[in-house]
Amino acid sequence: MLRGGPSSTGGDNKGPFLAPDVAVVGAGPVGLAIAWRCAARGLRVVVHDPAPGSGAAYVAAGMLAPVAEAYFGEHELTALLTASAARWPAFAAELADASGADLGYRADGTLLVGLTADDLAEARRLWAYQQGLGLPVAALRPSELREREPALAPRVRGGALAATDHQVDPRRLVPALRTAAERAGVTLVAGAVRSLSDVAADVTVVAAGCGAAALTGLPVRPVKGQVLRLRAPGGAAPGFRHVIRGYADGEHVYLVPRADGEVVVGATVEERTDTTVSAGAVLRLLRAAVDLVPELSEYDLVETLAGLRPGTPDNAPILGPLPGRPDVLAAAGHHRHGIVLTPITADLITDLIVTGEPGPLLAPFTPDRFGPGTPGAPGAAGGRVSGGTTTKEERWN
Ligand SMILES: Cc1cc2nc3c(=O)[nH]c(=O)nc-3n(C[C@H](O)[C@H](O)[C@H](O)COP(=O)(O)OP(=O)(O)OC[C@H]3O[C@@H](n4cnc5c(N)ncnc54)[C@H](O)[C@@H]3O)c2cc1C
Repeated sequence: MLRGGPSSTGGDNKGPFLAPDVAVVGAGPVGLAIAWRCAARGLRVVVHDPAPGSGAAYVAAGMLAPVAEAYFGEHELTALLTASAARWPAFAAELADASGADLGYRADGTLLVGLTADDLAEARRLWAYQQGLGLPVAALRPSELREREPALAPRVRGGALAATDHQVDPRRLVPALRTAAERAGVTLVAGAVRSLSDVAADVTVVAAGCGAAALTGLPVRPVKGQVLRLRAPGGAAPGFRHVIRGYADGEHVYLVPRADGEVVVGATVEERTDTTVSAGAVLRLLRAAVDLVPELSEYDLVETLAGLRPGTPDNAPILGPLPGRPDVLAAAGHHRHGIVLTPITADLITDLIVTGEPGPLLAPFTPDRFGPGTPGAPGAAGGRVSGGTTTKEERWN
């Protein structure tokens, strides 16, 4: 930690060949946001990545959904998601200003819907849990639902509004973060880091998504997600403005409309490491999407893609110093939530670097929570941990 404060290594030594204060491994949203925040605090920062923005964020839908993503038994994660989502409006405004870019940030809210009576019963079970946590989920009558979103199929039995669940376009977010970081003085180095011993800096932050496991031994594993991108015909905006998350005949699907005409349809959740797209997944996603919003059958199918989420055994990110390595900080394992968690991760890690003091919000997420000899835990030393608590039945993105 830079307990001496910014430029404790440098002072007047601003020459180009000095080790930086902070080296960040990974130029996804998490690494770039940390780099931007650290540079704004006066630190010299270098980011290493062979292909910035090419990780999970390139595939991600960009839902900022702490409410819809509040699942049974994940209280601490829900609290972190909620705290980070609350920072998003100011973060988006500041980043748009610093980069001059449009992030595609939208605050139209999220509709949670059930197609059949069984789907609705399933959805209501989760809403009851979320409401029990005090989260804003407001049940809507079918007429209210259709008033809000006339594009919904008449068959949709019912739904609810999560007004505070917003969205951003990750393909706009990452370049904007890169621009803001570079304008703040961050240097990007094009190249993969093979070993942390190759990195010279006072503090190294490992923000390499799925690549964090090989560098640190932490239990981060790839969780495959297939998504589709549709486009409204004739350059029009989609015929609906809310994010729609639904159960359709037992299939989970989400639809994320962008102002530029794109609709992201997602996603599978698979314990696999390949990135092939399967015909069956495309079929199921499209069928569920069209069941909920019939006009989507007229849209262009412009992209099918699979990405790898950086999953962890408890679905929560890993934030803080590696056991016995106070100079190496993990900012990894953001799984389904790396976009929504970008602002709070950047703030918490930057504060830790600058002050040397871990903020109280970090405590549940530090690497040592996986037990003795954390790298490789809980499966033992040195390797990835397979499996986890994610199941297709429970998860949407
Ligand atoms: C289908 C799908 C849908 C998703 N939807 C959402 C959503 O709606 N909302 C949400 O919040 N999250 C969502 N996510 C999750 C989100 O994309 C990730 O949590 C997030 O991208 C993690 O950010 P990151 O910067 O840690 O990692 P990444 O985005 O994966 O970036 C990691 C970067 O590190 C680099 N790297 C890797 N290894 C090395 C190395 N050895 N040296 C140098 N650089 C390296 C890579 O090139 C890459 O640029 C989704 C993910 C998927 C796959």
